[in-house]
Amino acid sequence: MKLYVCSSCGSKFFEERMICAKCRSVEFYEKEFEEKEVISETTLTSTPAGFPDTLLIRLIRVDGVTCLVGDVKQT
Ligand SMILES: [Zn+2]
Repeated sequence: MKLYVCSSCGSKFFEERMICAKCRSVEFYEKEFEEKEVISETTLTSTPAGFPDTLLIRLIRVDGVTCLVGDVKQT
């Protein structure tokens, strides 16, 4: 999974940011990490209009960063 890493302080974020919440730097680079730990997961079977009928949502931890990710569940 790709994380966004602050070029100045090394803080990692799962979503792209305009400014670092820790040091206010505006320079980031992308780095790939392996998915390490699934904290929780749930399947949504009632989804908003425009989304697939079923979605698998996972809360995972990647290199110490908690990330919320969703995938279309294959049925
Ligand atoms: Zn920073």
